[in-house]
Amino acid sequence: MNAFWAGFDLHSHSTCSDGKLSPTELVQLAAEQGLHTLSLTDHDTVKGIREAKQAAEQCGLQLIPGVEISTTWSKASVHIVGLNLDPENPELLEGLASQQAARRQRAELIAQKLSGLGIDDFLAKVEQQANGAEIGRPHFAQVMVDEGVVETMAEAFKKHLGAGKKGDVKNLWPEIDQAVQWIHAAGGVAVLAHPLHYKMTNMKRRALLKAFKACGGDAMEVVSGMQTPDQSRYMAQLAKEYELKASVGSDFHFVTQWQKPGKYSALPESIDPVWMTWADSLPECQPSA
Ligand code: AMP
Ligand code: MN
Ligand code: MN
Ligand code: MN
Repeated sequence: MNAFWAGFDLHSHSTCSDGKLSPTELVQLAAEQGLHTLSLTDHDTVKGIREAKQAAEQCGLQLIPGVEISTTWSKASVHIVGLNLDPENPELLEGLASQQAARRQRAELIAQKLSGLGIDDFLAKVEQQANGAEIGRPHFAQVMVDEGVVETMAEAFKKHLGAGKKGDVKNLWPEIDQAVQWIHAAGGVAVLAHPLHYKMTNMKRRALLKAFKACGGDAMEVVSGMQTPDQSRYMAQLAKEYELKASVGSDFHFVTQWQKPGKYSALPESIDPVWMTWADSLPECQPSA
């Protein structure tokens, strides 16, 4: 019998933000991978949801409308995922419009700060790379690779775009409670994304979880992509302690040896699945499914 979490992927990206597959291609690949429930959670936009929903209907897959909102907490960049929300809710859309304006402003700042790299028309090239998507640092990284400034995207982050580097502009994001509020206004569930990705001590991570819970956060990603069994047990323990439901996702952006929709480590049995919140309305979220 399949594991109770098999078939779910509640964190993924498309060409509407920094993913490389269109919403339709993403949904088709997820269905081919045997998933029954996928959430599209693009950075600060719900633009791809309508297309993903149509594709999902054709593939017989359950599509959970989602988003991943950039915030700051105690000087750290923190991502809050919203799941099963109404992508047409005016309060959410207004919030995302302000995020999108901040992204454009940030893109200009990043291009200025990295002008020393000597890339001509840097911002214009990044815009072309994004091709209408919400601009993110991966678009900058790709242009750097194409221009021969670095060999790989990873090197671009390590030297120029990652935490603490010149191109890491993060003071334009709202506090975590703002994101939680937008998500709740749209009837969604607020999930702290990939808690292990933040460069912080375990003590600070606990403070983040406490603050997230205190402002109404509902769940956390107990498993995000590939992690060790020890890490998963630790995350499950934290979810229990801070009374947060458990979410799971690949954070898929494009196919690599390590990334595919539905590719993530085993979810510990002890957790309280976030999808049970939707069991009444969504058939694949029933305990027996
Ligand atoms: P942004 O949304 O502009 O803040 O960019 C953050 C995105 O950059 C993340 O969602 C990842 O997709 C990507 N990213 C972060 N760190 C790295 C890294 N070290 N190498 C490649 N991509 C990364
Ligand atoms: Mn991303
Ligand atoms: Mn993220
Ligand atoms: Mn993500």
